[in-house]
Amino acid sequence: MKVMEKVNILGVPVDKTDMKGALDKITVLLDMDGTNTIYTPNSEMVINAVKDKELMAILKSGDLVVPDGIGLVYASRIYGNPLSERVAGFDLMTGMLKILDKEERSVYLLGGKPEIAQRAADNIAKRFPSIKIKGTRNGYFKEQDVPGMVEQINASGAEVLLVALGSPKQEKWISSNLGRLKVSIAMGVGGSFDVLAGEVSRAPLIFRKAGLEWFYRLITQPWRAARMLSLPVFVIKVLIDRGRRSRK
Ligand code: UDP
Repeated sequence: MKVMEKVNILGVPVDKTDMKGALDKITVLLDMDGTNTIYTPNSEMVINAVKDKELMAILKSGDLVVPDGIGLVYASRIYGNPLSERVAGFDLMTGMLKILDKEERSVYLLGGKPEIAQRAADNIAKRFPSIKIKGTRNGYFKEQDVPGMVEQINASGAEVLLVALGSPKQEKWISSNLGRLKVSIAMGVGGSFDVLAGEVSRAPLIFRKAGLEWFYRLITQPWRAARMLSLPVFVIKVLIDRGRRSRK
């Protein structure tokens, strides 16, 4: 398989790919040995990784790491190594579900509040009738439940595991269970089950095309405002990092 070029954003190597390239890679990963990981960092996650060595190491080890946020696309331009587009995690997950449907493959949904994973699964089944949904499990559990959960996922025979625990919980959950999991792909999908279940709606296309999904989220979910403050911090850190690198 062709190795993807990467752009290093504050230490996080992000694959230089567009949506099509990412989906092509997923098709390959589905038939590869072992469990392959997919992470979808935005600027908030990159900032967290700078502060959290464990998260940084996990993102570095990802088999497919796509730029979920428009901030990463801007950052890549600042570094002079531009990413061609934002690859939104939700869209990548939907594209993967299309592949799973076409190839009649299977999925397991882990995460979200009670009932949400099941409602998300019901909606996947309606939209992608050939996907085999092997199981669901909400994302509120105790540490001691984890071995049993992994056993259940493995026994289900699912090929793909979607993990919706929010970041960095989902990345850490995937990484710490990687040695035991038997799925071909494990992907962190954040709040995607809430959208699939119809609890939360995505920004209208016009906002997404303009790179303003974050703005739509800010006005519709103002309690997320504090989290979004990481965007200006991110840009400043990238500018400093570029300056530092160009002096080397
Ligand atoms: N969640 C979960 N278990 C937890 C904490 C969160 O299943 O212990 C779920 C929560 O119900 C929500 C998702 O994780 O569906 C986090 O969504 P958010 O939009 O905050 O994640 P992001 O995509 O911003 O990381």
